[in-house]
Amino acid sequence: MRLVFMGPPGIGKGTYASAVSKKYGIPHISTGDIFREEIKKGSPLGLKVKEYVSRGELVPDDIVIEVVRRRLSREDCKKGFILDGYPRTLRQAEALDEITKIDLVLNFVAPDEIIIERVSGRIICSKCGAIYHEKWRPPRKPGVCDVCGGRVIKREDDRPEVVKHRLELYKRQFAPIIEYYRRKGLLVDVDASDTADVVIPRIIRLLESYGFKPPR
Ligand code: AMP
Repeated sequence: MRLVFMGPPGIGKGTYASAVSKKYGIPHISTGDIFREEIKKGSPLGLKVKEYVSRGELVPDDIVIEVVRRRLSREDCKKGFILDGYPRTLRQAEALDEITKIDLVLNFVAPDEIIIERVSGRIICSKCGAIYHEKWRPPRKPGVCDVCGGRVIKREDDRPEVVKHRLELYKRQFAPIIEYYRRKGLLVDVDASDTADVVIPRIIRLLESYGFKPPR
């Protein structure tokens, strides 16, 4: 089961990918995570991509494609994988077709207002990174992390105007890629306007309807 997960920032793609990865026993491959790890290690690849990642710019296609090619050739990808954060350009999508055959692209969708509400209500512990929501999941004691007692704050780039801007950028950047997969008949829209405990079973049902059964 070779899957690509796509969707705007804040839609919960990472959460869904982790859940499906666990359920099916296939790796969740996030190019963003790979880059952050390499940067932390200070590896040659990390040094090469550091400037791009810290500025939020796209890493050049040649580098990303090589990283994905190498990662997908590893043993744990034999049964399948979930790609998250890749492809981000048409060239990356075309290169992926040369590397392997993708079975399905899940395109997570939700109205902008829902994503904006979700993300702009997000508050996060400044010490351990635990994530809360002002309205849906506040910490027990206002402003104090349940897990570690750290200070719970709102990230500057989670403000509604900033989230809205990110959504516009996403749409512009991903429209050709979504179109590319739609034309190939690989794209399935998945309604992600509900909470994760509703969306995750929805994904599993969808995958089962395509004949992908989780192992027992
Ligand atoms: P993410 O966590 O997916 O938002 O990725 C973090 C950063 O890694 C991005 O802002 C880019 O700098 C870089 N990155 C991740 N995936 C890609 C990709 N497929 N193509 C180019 N740059 C990427």
